[in-house]
Amino acid sequence: MGADRLAVVGAGIMGRGIAQVAALGGYKTVLQDIDAGQLQAALADIRASVARSVQRGGVAEAEAQQALAKLTTTTVLGEATHGAHVVIEAVPEHIHLKLEVLEELDRLCAPETILASNTSSLSITEMAAVTQRGPLVVGMHFFNPVPRMRLLEIVRGLETSADTVATAEQVGQRLGKETVVVRESPGFVTSRINALIGNEAFRMLEEGVATAKDIDKALKLGLNHPMGPFELVDLVGLDTRLSILEYLHRTLGDRFRPSPLLVQYVKGGRLGRKTGRGVYDYGSGQD
Ligand code: NAD
Repeated sequence: MGADRLAVVGAGIMGRGIAQVAALGGYKTVLQDIDAGQLQAALADIRASVARSVQRGGVAEAEAQQALAKLTTTTVLGEATHGAHVVIEAVPEHIHLKLEVLEELDRLCAPETILASNTSSLSITEMAAVTQRGPLVVGMHFFNPVPRMRLLEIVRGLETSADTVATAEQVGQRLGKETVVVRESPGFVTSRINALIGNEAFRMLEEGVATAKDIDKALKLGLNHPMGPFELVDLVGLDTRLSILEYLHRTLGDRFRPSPLLVQYVKGGRLGRKTGRGVYDYGSGQD
């Protein structure tokens, strides 16, 4: 098993970004998804994103070509995990799915492989419990868009070993990230705060306090947030945000009860940029 092999499971918004920074960090990277179409779209996105970095002068052309050559894709999980030092899962934010994937990864991977989850909120300890390698299971919470966001929040579950945390920090540094280490608790540091702000913004929209545009503008210009809460949730995905809120509501109490308007948007398929429409409309100009 080479320490330079990394696998990413799930090629959605996050998995493709993680695979991109892993390849740029010099890892032989395999990106896996059950949906071949997602893998195709991921490769196209990664190529376009790397090309933009080259144009901006952030990455040398030769380095970009080397990175792209290190990246492969597959729909077969056993191919992705073969020889991997670290596997990072980025499948949707549903605990039953995460548990299924972790169980399968535990079965397929070499005993020394570290299993990391990119979950935004769920319990690393619960995921570790379905494996035979609790000390090797850790949270590696990246941010969207992965190539641009500097933080990696490393989450220590009940059994996570100090060595595993240290390896996660080293991987993070190689991927160009600053790291913080947090003890597992629902939503960690970042998602707990962010979900609260985002939910409150939906409540204000529902109450007619201001338009979505003005709420975004107020937070950007008055509170110095780089993005408004609605711009951000459209990027994150309203379904992903709702899953996080539902979990935080169950675990931390009523202050995280999802706004009915957010629930309604998700029911209506308004999931954000990925479906062309969320709070704003990306097909025919913004609402
Ligand atoms: P997404 O819906 O964009 O992508 C999920 C991908 O997983 C899809 O391509 C899907 O086909 C694939 N998938 C589903 N089941 C699978 C399986 N069994 N095996 C392999 N692939 C499978 O989701 P996302 O936004 O990338 O979120 C993924 C994870 O990252 C979630 O845990 C989420 O909470 C976390 N996260 C998301 C963001 C964000 O801004 N979207 C930020 C930080 C963390």
